[in-house]
Amino acid sequence: MSDPVLEPETESEDEFEEFEEFEELEDPVVVPPVEAAPEPVVSAAAAAVTLALGKTIGEDAVSSNAPLGELTTYRVGGHASVLAIADSLEDLAEIHRAASTIAPGVPFLVVGLGSNLLVADEGFSGVAIQLGEGFTAVVVEGNQVIAGAGAKLPVVARKSGAAGLSGFEWAVGVPGSVGGAVRMNAGGHGSDMRESLVSATLFNLRDGSTRTSGPDELGLGYRCSNVAAHEVVVSARLQLSPGDESASKKQMTDIVRWRLMNQPGGQNAGSVFTNPEGDSAGRLIDAAGLKGHRIGTAEVSTKHANFIQADPDGLAADVVALMAHIVAEVRSHAGVELHAETRMVGFKKAAPGDKKPR
Ligand SMILES: Cc1cc2nc3c(=O)[nH]c(=O)nc-3n(C[C@H](O)[C@H](O)[C@H](O)COP(=O)(O)OP(=O)(O)OC[C@H]3O[C@@H](n4cnc5c(N)ncnc54)[C@H](O)[C@@H]3O)c2cc1C
Repeated sequence: MSDPVLEPETESEDEFEEFEEFEELEDPVVVPPVEAAPEPVVSAAAAAVTLALGKTIGEDAVSSNAPLGELTTYRVGGHASVLAIADSLEDLAEIHRAASTIAPGVPFLVVGLGSNLLVADEGFSGVAIQLGEGFTAVVVEGNQVIAGAGAKLPVVARKSGAAGLSGFEWAVGVPGSVGGAVRMNAGGHGSDMRESLVSATLFNLRDGSTRTSGPDELGLGYRCSNVAAHEVVVSARLQLSPGDESASKKQMTDIVRWRLMNQPGGQNAGSVFTNPEGDSAGRLIDAAGLKGHRIGTAEVSTKHANFIQADPDGLAADVVALMAHIVAEVRSHAGVELHAETRMVGFKKAAPGDKKPR
C-alpha cells in the first residue's frame, strides 16, 4: 500500500510561514492528544494575535494552543495555534484586523460543529474561528427562513416545519451548522442546501469585506462549494414552500428513526467518502469486506461501511491510515477511486484518494 496522501483543508497553510517560523525559533512542543504533554510553548505570533484579540473581542473569547480536535465529532486531533469565538460581525472585523496586522497571510479555519472535520494529531498552525451565540438566530419571513450560520441544522429544520414551511425536513438528521452546510452543500434524503438556498452572506477574513451570493456564485455542487477557507458564512436565506406542520413533523420523525437504524452513533464524521457516480461508497466498502476492519484506534463501522468510528482518546493518524487502506482496497476490488468528503485540517498533502487539494 502506498503512503496515504493527505490534503490541507486550508489553501494557504502550506504557503504561510510566519507562525511556523516563530514556532521553529521557539522550538514549539506539538501537543499529542493522548499522552500528557509538557507545558506547550506558544509561538510569538500566536501569542501576539491572542493578546490583541483579548483586548477587542474579550479574553474569554480567544485562546492560544487551544484544543481543536475536541471541537469535532471525531474528537481526535491536536490543537489550534489560536482559537477565537466571534459573536458578531464586529468581532470578525477585529479578527481580520489583528491577523492582517500581526500575522498577514496566516491560515484561517472556520469551525462549525466539527461534524465533517478531521484534525491532524499535530494540530492546526493558524487562526481557527468559531461562531458564537450571536450567530444562531433563526427568523421566519413569509416563506423564507433567515438563519445565522451558527444555527444547528436540526433546529432550523424543526423551526421551519413548526412555522408551516416545508423543504428543509431532510436537515433534521444532519448534525452540522448552517455555515458548514453551505460550505459543504450538505444534503440527504433527496435534497441539499442548494435546493433552498436563496443567498448566503460571507465575511472575508483577508480583506474585511462582506458579500451576499447565491448558490451559483457560491459554486454549490455535490458536497462542495467554492467558499474559501478565509471566508466565513455568517447567515443564509432559505426559500421554502407552504406546507403542513404535522406532515413535516412526521417526515422528520421518520428521518430520525431511519438514521438511528442505519447510522452509528459515537465518534465519527458521517460519510467519509463521497458516492461515486451511480454507486454508493458504503456499498463498495462493504463489498470489499471492510466492515469492522480496524487500524489502531479507528474502525470501519459495522453498521454503515462509509463511517469510521474513532475510539475515545484515538488518533487522527489511525483514521487517515484506515481511509488510505479503504481507498486502496476498493480500488483493487472494484476499480473505483473513492474521494474524501471529510475535510482534512492540518495535514500536509492531499486526502487519501485525492490527487490534488480541493
Ligand atoms: C452522524 C453524522 C451524519 C451526517 N450526515 C450527513 C448527511 O446526511 N449529509 C451531509 O451532507 N453531511 C452529513 N454529515 C456531515 C456534516 O454534518 C455536514 O457536512 C455538515 O454540513 C458540516 O457542518 P459543520 O457545522 O459541522 O461543519 P464543520 O465540520 O465544522 O466544517 C465543515 C467545513 O465547513 C467549513 N465551515 C464550517 N462552518 C463555516 C462557516 N460558518 N463559514 C464558512 N465555512 C464554514 C469548515 O471550515 C469546513 O471546511 C454527517 C455527519 C455526522 C457526524
